[in-house]
Amino acid sequence: MNILVVNAGSSSLKYQLIDTDTDTLYAKGICERIGGDGSLIEHKQTVKGLKVKKEHPMQNHADAMKLVVEHLTDPEVGCISGMDEIEAIGHRVVHGGSYFSESILLSDDVLEKLKLCRDFAPLHTDAHLMGIKGCLDTMPGKPQVLVFDTAFHQTMAPEAYIYALPYEYYEKYGIRRYGMHGTSHRYVSAEMAKLLGKPVEETKIVTCHIGNGSSISAVKGGKVMDTSMGFTPLAGVEMGTRCGDIDPAIVPYLMEAENLSPAEINTVMNKKSGFLGVSGFSSDSRDLENAIANGPSDPNYERAKLAVDILKHNLKKYIGSYAAIMNGLDAVVFTAGIGENNPNLRELVCEDMEFFGIEFDKAANDAAPHVSENTRISKASSKVAVWVVPTNEELVIAKDTAALVAGK
Ligand code: ADP
Repeated sequence: MNILVVNAGSSSLKYQLIDTDTDTLYAKGICERIGGDGSLIEHKQTVKGLKVKKEHPMQNHADAMKLVVEHLTDPEVGCISGMDEIEAIGHRVVHGGSYFSESILLSDDVLEKLKLCRDFAPLHTDAHLMGIKGCLDTMPGKPQVLVFDTAFHQTMAPEAYIYALPYEYYEKYGIRRYGMHGTSHRYVSAEMAKLLGKPVEETKIVTCHIGNGSSISAVKGGKVMDTSMGFTPLAGVEMGTRCGDIDPAIVPYLMEAENLSPAEINTVMNKKSGFLGVSGFSSDSRDLENAIANGPSDPNYERAKLAVDILKHNLKKYIGSYAAIMNGLDAVVFTAGIGENNPNLRELVCEDMEFFGIEFDKAANDAAPHVSENTRISKASSKVAVWVVPTNEELVIAKDTAALVAGK
């Protein structure tokens, strides 16, 4: 079944056309600066290896969708002969609140519930609503499915998702742990369960999705027991520009000391912290790795190393605590931009973990700096398996969409 996967941001729209019968990616691309000057589309026809990038006016997401369909059906750079060949659309949705614990076919009722999720992620939800409307305008009648980043985490028990604040704030405002990157955690934990070769119900896996935004999950028996992101994607480990877990008392302290408004302290924690804040020069792990490789003569060496060491320390703590709550550990999985492409971080995290049964295979890790297929980086004798599994959220979205449309 040909499924168009759509990931709508406030001024961008990413897409992929996937045949779910053969897992073939036919085309992918991005429309950028929608509604602004110099909007452009970048389109790749992956089977023939063709690429186009051109400026094209796009007032809104409906214009973007029209352009996407034009490119998909273009005789030269396209991959299908007409819109009829797209059987359904699957949307990535960042926040489903407590309303959605699994993917769902779009209906008026679903749309109303999605609007309620604006409280948790206003910018993202507005963007998704625009993406959905763009598809309704361009391809009326085509089935649409919503796949939520939060859904996989809905299996957590209250002891994992309720914060020890006055309970009325949970009831009044829905303040609780939701978690993010659920589609990625779901994909890599399912792949890992297959690699372990035992029934999913018997597996205990820690999944480490480490990119610009990072989250760690404890997945026991195929269900999330806990995850590091919380009410918002700010919680958990240190990230590119986000601080992750800090003592909450720092917030009012800094607001007073630096005379910051709630919006300003939010910007500090979301945009000026993490790798960027600690290193003082970059949020990108490649820049930090370069400075570290240059050695102490590099003016950025000390703080780049500190920034990376903080993430290493955070990850070890999460892996250890998640092994404790699952009462065991079969596997640790690394995925996403850093997890798939930064062998040094993987080594830092996995060394000196013999107590947890991890025997790291440095040679296998060094041989796979950039991982494009599932790769084992622990020794065969290791009690706990460590793998790098490239994530594929779009494939999960496409498969969920195909299954719902087929009525499975
Ligand atoms: P996002 O959370 O925005 O999806 P990504 O998963 O793309 O982020 O991760 C971005 C991070 O991954 C950056 O720190 C970047 O340095 C790192 N990264 C991505 N691709 C590569 C690569 N090919 N080589 C080294 N690092 C990479």
